[in-house]
Amino acid sequence: MPVGGMEESMDEHKDDKHEETELEKKDSGTEEKKSDDSGSDYEDVCFICRRPESKAGKMFKLPNNICVCDDCMHKTMDTVSQFDYQGLLNNPNMGNGQGFPNISFVNLADLQGDGGIPNKQKPKKKRKKEAAEIDIRDILPPHKIKQKLDEYVVGQEHAKKVMSVAVYNHYKRVATGTMDEIEIEKSNMLMIGPTGCGKTYLVKTLAKLLDVPLAIADATSLTEAGYIGDDIESVVSKLLAAADNDVERAERGIIFIDEIDKIAKKKNTNSRDVSGESVQQGMLKLLEGAEVEVPVGANSKNAMVPLATVNTRNILFICGGAFPDLDEIIKQRLNKKTSIGYSAELKDKYDKEKNILGRVTVEDIRKFGMIPEFIGRLPVIFTLEGLSRDMMVQILKEPRNAILKQYQKLLELDEVELIFDEGALEAIADKAMEKETGARALRAIIEEFMLDIMYEVPKDDNIGRVTITREYIEGNGGPIIDIRSRSAEHPDRLKVIQQPVNGS
Ligand code: ADP
Repeated sequence: MPVGGMEESMDEHKDDKHEETELEKKDSGTEEKKSDDSGSDYEDVCFICRRPESKAGKMFKLPNNICVCDDCMHKTMDTVSQFDYQGLLNNPNMGNGQGFPNISFVNLADLQGDGGIPNKQKPKKKRKKEAAEIDIRDILPPHKIKQKLDEYVVGQEHAKKVMSVAVYNHYKRVATGTMDEIEIEKSNMLMIGPTGCGKTYLVKTLAKLLDVPLAIADATSLTEAGYIGDDIESVVSKLLAAADNDVERAERGIIFIDEIDKIAKKKNTNSRDVSGESVQQGMLKLLEGAEVEVPVGANSKNAMVPLATVNTRNILFICGGAFPDLDEIIKQRLNKKTSIGYSAELKDKYDKEKNILGRVTVEDIRKFGMIPEFIGRLPVIFTLEGLSRDMMVQILKEPRNAILKQYQKLLELDEVELIFDEGALEAIADKAMEKETGARALRAIIEEFMLDIMYEVPKDDNIGRVTITREYIEGNGGPIIDIRSRSAEHPDRLKVIQQPVNGS
């Protein structure tokens, strides 16, 4: 596995240009080589039945890159040989401007160039065996994975550690196939943590640093096949698209299913639970490993879309959710235990415990409404902590692509220095805490305050430095604007001449 490169371009990681370009170079290098060998990276797809070459076998090649599979060619020949030409010629309607009955014409414009089927709808050809295999020595060890995660994700030490080990084991399993008789279990994960604490972000960062395709799906949109909504296999289809229709790459990818708590078994319902328990049931075989037929280049299966077979055996599934009220279930269980023993008087002992989610057990999750078979297929269960004020401040300034660094970079291009004093950061964090949407609130808050600054600064070439203060954030003042000194002795010195700008 080419671990260590970066593939998917994530908008949060704008300062990764260097690594990305290197990877692009690497990618395009291999692409070119492949194209040289075999002409095209994509499989031929039958123009009539839309089955790819891997399913339908060798194709007959017609002009204009149109391919027809053996079966369809035979059927066509049979039809043509049984065709009643005599009857057609005797048809009194023929030639009177009504055209040939029962014959529809193919639009020739559709057949130009790509044989009527765009590459987007064709699966990629399988690569040679050696190229597809992962070398066990290339897999990053857990401490290196965690180190890289540390660069982007603040706190969540436990989650980062568990994930690093699970991912390492997972790819070791993929690399070795089945080692002797001992089959290594799949390390699918279930992450539990409040909204905005970094669940999606962790998975995105992980996929990026491992250079594997990632599909993010929302469990709320999934329904049992045949009902309105996306059917469950659509998540694999998304992954195939993320892997650029390369089935082998997709088979080593990661699927993140968010809001998994929303498919808990519905309580007190008489009707069929098509978006809850049935979805859990439907996901079982995917989680475990199954061959699924997914449409290529489209969201739903229909007669005109080619299908590709993807094996989910080596796809890493990560499910995440906030699981509201799970803490109550945990507390209830813990309290019950104490009330039986000596310490019955300490019944509310756990009410104030901060990290109560950390004590979660499989039994609690089952009580929440996840079916045992489903939990059983997610053997790595861990929790993430809610963000504290200090963590929010760190998130603002420390990660490699921290929001502050992004704004500083933007203003640097105007040769203006941007400074946030500690008080301002704390005030922003306080505001974000009030919103209870985790770190997601931070960007919205900063954007609101930076709007005026980003608007005013380019107006005046004299502005050399802007300092954001607590007063500005709390609405009691403005930012400190320093003007470049024009005096000859101190050309670089900044002089405070204006304060505040926004307060007015
Ligand atoms: P959720 O847990 O609901 O999936 P996200 O992972 O989508 O939350 O977090 C939203 C945004 O907040 C991320 O894009 C990231 O920028 C930021 N963020 C959240 N938690 C952290 C963290 N621990 N460290 C750094 N950034 C974070």
